[in-house]
Amino acid sequence: GSFETMGLGPMTMKGVKRKGYRLPTPIQRRAIPLVMAGQDLVGMARTGSGKTAAFVIPLIERLKEHSPKAGARAVILAPTRELALQTHKVVAELGRYTSLRTAVLVGGDSMEAQFAELTTNPDIIVATPGRLLHHLEEVEGLSLKTTQVCILDEADRLFELGLFEQVRQLLAGMGEGRQTLLFSATLPGALAEFARVGLKDPALVRL
Ligand code: AMP
Repeated sequence: GSFETMGLGPMTMKGVKRKGYRLPTPIQRRAIPLVMAGQDLVGMARTGSGKTAAFVIPLIERLKEHSPKAGARAVILAPTRELALQTHKVVAELGRYTSLRTAVLVGGDSMEAQFAELTTNPDIIVATPGRLLHHLEEVEGLSLKTTQVCILDEADRLFELGLFEQVRQLLAGMGEGRQTLLFSATLPGALAEFARVGLKDPALVRL
């Protein structure tokens, strides 16, 4: 298994090379083709496994280029501000040879600076749930109806921190046809149940 045999386009491959990745990690080898095919997925993986790139690489490949009229086509939800900022950086780095636009909306930063980011019509929003809900209330015309891919990163932590009600609210505002990816180090009962009813026939990638 190599990145070259995965059918990634030249701009995605350039980003992967520039980041210094030579070979996919085991979770990337299994998850990237499934995500590219549009499958819902539960990925059980810890930090250090390469799980971020396992969803960022196929996401970039799916969205390909900036679409000024399509709205936010992907939403990545993270439990903490630190994780959201870190993931946003990976998206920017791996996507640097594409025209895709990103915004990061986290608690603790000024709403005004984030309003400005939203006026650029980002294709990908990386956010903490509470702050994204806040923007949906404040920004006229901002909606998640256009969201085609939603990624819940560190879902067990989203759950532990009591953010799942907000996650559910955000998912309810997205289209039914979306692809949902859930990444988590552990899969407690409540989360497994959520995945069973909230995802469509998800593939389980477990290492
Ligand atoms: P993560 O599990 O997403 O936190 O990633 C852990 C570390 O592995 C990060 O420093 C990544 O940049 C790095 N990494 C991810 N994928 C690869 C890869 N295919 N080859 C080398 N390093 C990687």
